[in-house]
Amino acid sequence: MPKILSVKLNSGFSLPTLGLGTYKSAPGSETENAVKWALVAGYRLIDTAAYYGNEGSVGKAVRESSIPRHEIFITTKLWNSDHAIVEKAFEGSLSLLNSGYIDLYLIHWPIVRVRVQTWKRMEKLIAGGKIKSIGVANFMIRHLEDLLANTEIIPAVNQVEFSPYVYNKELLDYCKKKGIQLQAYSPLTRGNKLSDEKLLALSKKYSKSPAQILLRWCIQHDVAVIPKSVHEGRIIENSQIFDFELSKQDMDLMDSWNEGFRVAPDPNQYR
Ligand code: NDP
Repeated sequence: MPKILSVKLNSGFSLPTLGLGTYKSAPGSETENAVKWALVAGYRLIDTAAYYGNEGSVGKAVRESSIPRHEIFITTKLWNSDHAIVEKAFEGSLSLLNSGYIDLYLIHWPIVRVRVQTWKRMEKLIAGGKIKSIGVANFMIRHLEDLLANTEIIPAVNQVEFSPYVYNKELLDYCKKKGIQLQAYSPLTRGNKLSDEKLLALSKKYSKSPAQILLRWCIQHDVAVIPKSVHEGRIIENSQIFDFELSKQDMDLMDSWNEGFRVAPDPNQYR
């Protein structure tokens, strides 16, 4: 089983650098099996969201595992239509997860106007003891500046689309400077770029799969990853990224692949 590294968040808690994504994992046996396989493979972080409709299945699989709750990191997210009911939405997620507490609660998208107000309400939720850390997703630099200028707690995590094909170096540098941990979603480009010739060449060179090369590139940029799969073999494959290293030259090469390729909506649409 690979040794999955962790990083210390600005909240004082540890974040595993590898987690299982669950967007589009169907509630029920598909999600439950994926989570079980991931936990057996050594994953200790599961990423879900109210929007995904599978929080109940994530919670069930976690509870049914033999791993103590405190060794597993659960992330969920506040959906766009719930900004007016932050506390109720949070309780709803917690109730579905039935996990006692949530390790990380994220604002899913930087909705215009309300995001600062929402963040202030999330700051208060921390005091209730049922959330360990709060963070954001899809926040670009100007969204973060807005929060940092108007609120108390610096987000522990910013979860954004991140791969060599949509490499936002400015955001990465900014987050590092502010002590905000970047976490890559869609790190495998949802499969779209796994047959890219440039990537296949590196895959051959390192005897690692294209998916493993993409994930390793994130890890070497100090960016945590949450690849999604519902197949046991791929879940295991995606975890075997801590036993090799990309050379500086190949990191630089991959840095040059940026073409602004996104699979999710562009967060820049939110002013
Ligand atoms: P990923 O880049 O993780 O790609 C997932 C896709 O790649 C699935 O179709 C999966 O298929 C396939 N796949 C997984 N592993 C392999 C492999 N080793 N070889 C070939 N194909 C593979 O995309 P996601 O968009 O799912 O991103 C990951 C997670 O990030 C999400 O699941 C979600 O938890 C989070 N996320 C957060 C967002 C946000 O706004 N905060 C937005 C989008 C995602 P299969 O399952 O059939 O194996």
